[in-house]
Amino acid sequence: MEQRVSLITLAVDDLPQAVAFYQNIGWQAAQTGPGVAAFNLHGTVFGLYPWISMAADMGLDPQLAMRPSMTLGYNVREKTEVAQILEPLFMTATEAGALVAPHRQLIYLGKRAQASEARYLFALDISDLPEDGLASQFSQQSYFAELREIGPMIDGRDGSVMAYARAMLYWHYRHIYCGRCGQKTIVQKLGHQRKCGSASCGEMHFPRTDPAVIMLGSHLHIQLSHPLNYLAF
Ligand SMILES: [Zn+2]
Repeated sequence: MEQRVSLITLAVDDLPQAVAFYQNIGWQAAQTGPGVAAFNLHGTVFGLYPWISMAADMGLDPQLAMRPSMTLGYNVREKTEVAQILEPLFMTATEAGALVAPHRQLIYLGKRAQASEARYLFALDISDLPEDGLASQFSQQSYFAELREIGPMIDGRDGSVMAYARAMLYWHYRHIYCGRCGQKTIVQKLGHQRKCGSASCGEMHFPRTDPAVIMLGSHLHIQLSHPLNYLAF
């Protein structure tokens, strides 16, 4: 990753007033769309943006969230560069081994052939650990991110593995107790089965997928029917 900042954006209360301030000291605003202002600083762009808009872009509730003050932007030349920058981190066996505990069991995801070697992938739920300082223990510079937010920007194969891992971890989180008798369940088959700990019950639980289809209708024809009257739209 190149060591540069493309865009420094200041969150402001009053955009026209803020623009006027910089114009009064002799700066010339670049051409932009409405609701934002930018000044070219020879290599870096200095932007002004209403803080309410910035909070909305960040998905923050302006009534509840702390007011954002500024952002640093790193613009890439090609869309494909985003996937190279936002590369999911796979922990090494040594790193993961230090985190394995009786209440944090490894879940086998499968084998992945990579170049000339094969890697065995496991998922490990470490959500009980505080995030602060945890990422710095890994071999590469990293940070925690919400998968739904970065999913569209990472490599598709990595995204599939991440989504699979998350689905499996969520299934385990929801099946700590037997749905039949309420006793604790035991992880078996490298995380692909949970068995009820009660000898009299012994119910087996297996991961299930909840397939969903999201579609956009075009040239849609709906027919509402009634035994006596038929209405076509
Ligand atoms: Zn049971």
